[in-house]
Amino acid sequence: LEFRRVLFRSMKLALIAHDHKKDDMVALASAFAPFLQTCTLMATGTTGGRLRDEVGLAQVECLLSGPLGGDLQIGARLAVGEVDGVIFLRDPMTPQPHEPDINALVRACDVHNVPCATNLATAELLVVELARHCFIPKP
Ligand code: PGA
Repeated sequence: LEFRRVLFRSMKLALIAHDHKKDDMVALASAFAPFLQTCTLMATGTTGGRLRDEVGLAQVECLLSGPLGGDLQIGARLAVGEVDGVIFLRDPMTPQPHEPDINALVRACDVHNVPCATNLATAELLVVELARHCFIPKP
């Protein structure tokens, strides 16, 4: 599997959560904080701020907020190989003003065969699997 090739270096992960899913993202990131601290992380603005403030993931690079183009920034990076995985906790119950950007990011994941978890259950599976391969405890 092509994806296996990247499993032995620091993962570059993008984290995005719509407003009603941000608590889930914080809980997920808290549960897997030791692994996520070993990753290069980027996030849309508000999501990233919460991950820094509430989870202590100081290395999170905060991009633009989703409705202002953050999803597109992540998509552009992903298209040139700078993102290894996306956790995108979408809210299926609330219309989003930037729906075209959301679809563009998910499409980019499919075009470039980048794992993209769009709900909490899949996100857990993705992080567990990545952590199993990548987590190197600090000495
Ligand atoms: P945000 O963007 O993290 O800045 O809220 C995500 C979104 O709502 O699309």
